[in-house]
Amino acid sequence: MSIDALPPLRAVIESMDLWAKKSLGQNFLLDLNLTRRIAREAGPLEGRDVLEIGPGPGGLTRGLLAEGARRVLAIERDERFLPALAGIDAASGGRLAVELADALAPDEPALFARHGLTAPVSVAANLPYNVGTALLIKWLTAPSWPSWFDSLTLMFQREVAERIVAPVGGKTYGRLSVLAQWRTRARILFDVHPSAFVPPPSIVSAVVRLDVIPDPEPAPLAALEAVTQAAFGQRRKMLRASLKTLGVDPLPLLDAAGIEPTLRAEQVPVPGFLALARAFDARH
Ligand code: SAM
Repeated sequence: MSIDALPPLRAVIESMDLWAKKSLGQNFLLDLNLTRRIAREAGPLEGRDVLEIGPGPGGLTRGLLAEGARRVLAIERDERFLPALAGIDAASGGRLAVELADALAPDEPALFARHGLTAPVSVAANLPYNVGTALLIKWLTAPSWPSWFDSLTLMFQREVAERIVAPVGGKTYGRLSVLAQWRTRARILFDVHPSAFVPPPSIVSAVVRLDVIPDPEPAPLAALEAVTQAAFGQRRKMLRASLKTLGVDPLPLLDAAGIEPTLRAEQVPVPGFLALARAFDARH
């Protein structure tokens, strides 16, 4: 059997009684044209290894395999999907490996070694809303860079997608924008209407692609997290006030970074935060 000859997803869900669990952020995509489109946007995948988070009944998984991925490793928390995923593995000629785990926990390189994947991989996922941001932050704050992936193609709530790509100067520009735009080039590809999901969520979603910048401007990670947390934690205050929570005098830091003390966090572009992180790292 080939991927295209598998039964429709709705039939799989009904025959296996795979009703969605709200607690696991389950909203399924049943339109295989849409999942194929997302897989295409994650590509080119021909001959590449892919990590998918939360395959569920496997709509996106099918798309990734049909687009020519060499191997797909799918991390899923809900064991009810294992039989449906085993059917996809068989139809793909054994190119799908499934790991029953919480995607926030694993050591990805160890999993790749166990399942025969070669880094860097492409990551593709229709993420569960409740863990999507945490997962992205985990990946973006990898201690060594470039990490084990070179692109991330991910479905988020539209509001989170906007924060990821937000330009400096606006209300949506924040810690997530700084982290994402420091180490990747991020763009929103297209919106997905609630009616595309079963059950439909209450908000519009969007597919975002982040491409790794292999040699981003250097910045000490812990210091970057500290300065962005202090600055955006009190985003209405001027930096000379908000950065006091760092426990050092903010003025020499701002001076070393070449940033006006009267600016607010949302007015500082990404390179400004990197310079601030270097200054903080050097002085505390
Ligand atoms: N990819 C499928 C689709 O597009 O139809 C399902 C997407 S659904 C929004 C999210 C999936 O992630 C569910 O299958 C859910 O069980 C799984 N999931 C939720 N939390 C998870 C976690 N912490 N680690 C791994 N998978 C998780």
